[in-house]
Amino acid sequence: MSTAAAYALSAPDGSFEKVTIQRRELGPHDVLIDIKFAGICHSDIHTARDEWGRTRYPCVPGHEIAGVVAAVGSAVSRHRVGDHVGVGCMVGSCGVCAPCLADEEQYCAAGATMTYNSVVDPAVQPGGHTLGGYSTQIVVTENFVVAIPEGLGLDVAAPLLCAGVTLYSPLRHWGAGPGKKIAIIGMGGLGHVGVKLAAAMGAEVTVLSHSLSKQEDGKLFGAVGYYATSDKQTFRDLRGRFDLILNTVSANLPIDDYLRLLNLDGTLVILGLPENPMSVQPFNLAGYRRSLAGSMIGGVAQTQEMLNFCAEHGIGAEIELIAADEIDGAYDRVVASDVRYRFVIDVSTM
Ligand SMILES: [Zn+2]
Ligand SMILES: [Zn+2]
Repeated sequence: MSTAAAYALSAPDGSFEKVTIQRRELGPHDVLIDIKFAGICHSDIHTARDEWGRTRYPCVPGHEIAGVVAAVGSAVSRHRVGDHVGVGCMVGSCGVCAPCLADEEQYCAAGATMTYNSVVDPAVQPGGHTLGGYSTQIVVTENFVVAIPEGLGLDVAAPLLCAGVTLYSPLRHWGAGPGKKIAIIGMGGLGHVGVKLAAAMGAEVTVLSHSLSKQEDGKLFGAVGYYATSDKQTFRDLRGRFDLILNTVSANLPIDDYLRLLNLDGTLVILGLPENPMSVQPFNLAGYRRSLAGSMIGGVAQTQEMLNFCAEHGIGAEIELIAADEIDGAYDRVVASDVRYRFVIDVSTM
């Protein structure tokens, strides 16, 4: 057993406090990581504040983890001491179900073990639930640790572990590339990475954002079109335009307005998850043989593929680096959409 410093919430309405947590002894397949940077994802906030009603305390969020291998178990073959590595949303899965065998561990039939707030044997994480990356160290089985390639800074790589793969996976699944017209709804932590990725894949990218306030950034990241969804004219001008629309917004949107922007056989993919159900006018699906779909993060192998792609194309997240004692304020700013574009905790300040 080893100890690590961490920032934890002990109640939904509390504030983050520095605590000491325990990490398990290294097993043969385990990797001990010195965490350098941890991104702040909106899911961290929902969980830390118990907005999804299933949070276990103390809660140490963080599933956008970038660091350096400090030690490896006797049987580890994929990583070596000193390697730059990352950990995303998952730290385990059954390994034998059909999705796991297809490298889609995020859809594990038994339910993947998430990086934080998953119930586990106390031998896996002392305390009985997983504790995430707002911490100086973490122990993860080697199959859920990915390599961060040379040339990709650990700070700008951290958000790619969740935000990056959440966009990369549907872009690949629905064939983003030259000749494809793609719209990204929302220019936040998820959306801005999606613009960069889709543009690097050779697709024609358009941003659909509430206002035009981030238009210059959007063009800089590779978007050729940028439209305000607060303007009704946008929905008239872009009717039938896109092959693929990725919705990163977790508020309830007028989904029919967006479906009508799809071309023949186009697909609208839900990535941001609103709390309330939504309704759809079936004519908008049947009319142009459109699809409404969803997608959740990506598997470990695809996360590695995404990081390699980002290194090759010089893609990192746009970040605001903060100290560990600034997490509470950062949460408030994320909720107010006041961040360009992802907060990342500098773990050296712990
Ligand atoms: Zn996330
Ligand atoms: Zn499985």
